[in-house]
Amino acid sequence: MDWCESMPKIELHAHLNGSIRDSTLLELARALGDKGVIDFSQVEHVILKNDRSLSEVFKLFDLIHIVTTDHSSITRITKEAVEDFASENVVYLELRTTPKKNDSLGMSKRSYVEAVLDGLRAVSSVVVAFTPYKVEPGNLSSPLFSGVNDKYNGNPRKRIFVRLLLSIDRRETTEAAMETVILALEMRHFGVVGIDLSGNPAVGEWMTYLPALKFAREQGLHVTLHCGEVLNSKEIHDMLDFLPQRIGHACFFEEEHWKRLKSSNIPVEICLTSNIRTLSVPTIDAHHFADLYNAKHPLVLCTDDSGVFSTCLSNEYKIAASSFGLGRKEMFELSKNAIEFIFADNVVKGDLRKTFYSAAENVE
Ligand code: 5GP
Repeated sequence: MDWCESMPKIELHAHLNGSIRDSTLLELARALGDKGVIDFSQVEHVILKNDRSLSEVFKLFDLIHIVTTDHSSITRITKEAVEDFASENVVYLELRTTPKKNDSLGMSKRSYVEAVLDGLRAVSSVVVAFTPYKVEPGNLSSPLFSGVNDKYNGNPRKRIFVRLLLSIDRRETTEAAMETVILALEMRHFGVVGIDLSGNPAVGEWMTYLPALKFAREQGLHVTLHCGEVLNSKEIHDMLDFLPQRIGHACFFEEEHWKRLKSSNIPVEICLTSNIRTLSVPTIDAHHFADLYNAKHPLVLCTDDSGVFSTCLSNEYKIAASSFGLGRKEMFELSKNAIEFIFADNVVKGDLRKTFYSAAENVE
């Protein structure tokens, strides 16, 4: 199924720190071990372990966050994540990350996001377009990508659109969440298009974030919520009431939730490997992808945390194709349909439609 890799794809649910390369995580952890900040022998096996429960995943995130605290690490992992997605023909990436404050390193939420932006600017192997495109009157044909005809290692450089979502962590306060939303608004001209609510679903009350999420929406930011990762009927009900523009996961939905979801047509970000690895769904055959797909409900395949779950988007497409008996044409359509659920503007959507239109010739 090489076509899963060669066809254009859209990634809408990727956490920056979860997308860290194993090799980078090991290298950064070893360096901190050498400095005596952590005991490397204690963390090596945690990094190399492959099958983690949801609670172990959150322990690993705590470790990753110790390792990637400084600005230069954030810049590095951003650059590498974009390169990795582009290398497997992801043509549009919505990367989400939780802006972090760390006074001892002189890091504010703003400087954290600036370090992410530096990572986007540092990519050279691929042409990256991350700032919103302004259509100038009389200049409708301006290129969305500059330098697109350049070569890298003798080959034409691939191109990728990147947009950012700022995540609110469920450990944060209402005020901290509001700070993130205000930052997102200030960073809109650098490609921040929305807000995500994530973090350990067993922690906190989602209502804590409602004022910030409402404000984000009023101000024109897009909102996606991690919803139904654990059994919490009331929370799922209330989240669906909020009518977010997308939701992630939807593993622990009950009959009433499915009905509401389907009637509201909210697109679902599906993360197959993540859901199976964290035991949120018992087996791939029991995964709700099949039901939603058959019901023609809007959905998009995503990686969640390609580093933490040792996957990539092509692999998620391969798993869906082989587990649910879908052919090349169906998978191509699934990938293409995601254009309609992206948070970027219509100019980007139009450009992506052209990309898929040209690629369709190889699928017929
Ligand atoms: P970061 O926001 O630090 O770049 O990416 C890692 C963070 O994303 C984690 O600490 C966690 O807050 C969030 N995250 C990553 N994967 C998941 C997931 O599967 N479920 C939830 N609820 N949050 C996640």
